[in-house]
This record gives sequence, structure tokens and C-alpha cells, in this order.
Amino acid sequence: MDTEKFFKEILPTLKNPKDPTTALLVGLVFGGIGLAVYFRKVIDFFIPIGIVIALEILHTQLQGQGLIYIAAGALIAAAYGYLRAKYSNEMLAQAPGNGAISSSPSIVQSCTHCGYTLEPAATFCPHCGTRRAGATSFS
Ligand SMILES: [Zn+2]
Repeated sequence: MDTEKFFKEILPTLKNPKDPTTALLVGLVFGGIGLAVYFRKVIDFFIPIGIVIALEILHTQLQGQGLIYIAAGALIAAAYGYLRAKYSNEMLAQAPGNGAISSSPSIVQSCTHCGYTLEPAATFCPHCGTRRAGATSFS
């Protein structure tokens, strides 16, 4: 299975960027319940738990060795939390009107002289040096 595709296309993107390292620790210590609270999505409780249950069904010969499941569950939840935060952050950064980089598309302007696309904060065109139309004047 393509892990990146699963996290980016199947799971709903989180509302806000999350720190992958914090998610890893939350998953390690609190498991799926902790992740669901941290990510504020119920699905992030069921997926790590589901993986652990699937492993238990696959490896019935390990039955009785509960510590292995607890350790495996913690590691799976930690890895899941890390990847979930990482990929969700990437999706947030790409999404229009959501990331730190982007702002309203209507603010984006092109240079009146050469047509170069200007950053919203740019006062001068970085390409030809023409003052941007409507830019705040200092004089
Ligand atoms: Zn220009």
C-alpha cells in the first residue's frame, strides 16, 4: 500500500498544522485515544487501534504475550501520529487559502511593466524594478 497516498488522499486533512514530533510522543504515550484528542478527529483513534487489532488477528500465535501488543500498539500509534501530522501539514501547505504562504488570490498582482507575478507584500517588481501599482508610497 502507498502510505503517502493513504495519508494524503484518504484521510481528511487536519484543520491546523500539527507538530509531527509531538504527535509521535502523544501516540507513544497515549495511543490512539491521545491522537484522536490531539488531532481532534475520531478517525485518528480508530485507525491505529484497527491496525493493532488486525495484527492481533494475523498473529494469533502471540496470544498471551500482552506486553508485545502494548509495545507494538504504542509504536504503531507513534508512527501513525508522526506520519499523519507530517502529511497533513504538507496538504495544508498546498491547499489554497489555508497555509501561511497563501493569502486571498485577489491580492496577487502582476507587474504592470513586465507582467511578472508579484508577492502580495512586494512594493517593487523583483524582475524589472517597477513600483507596483497601488503599493503604499513612502514619499
Ligand atoms: Zn516588472
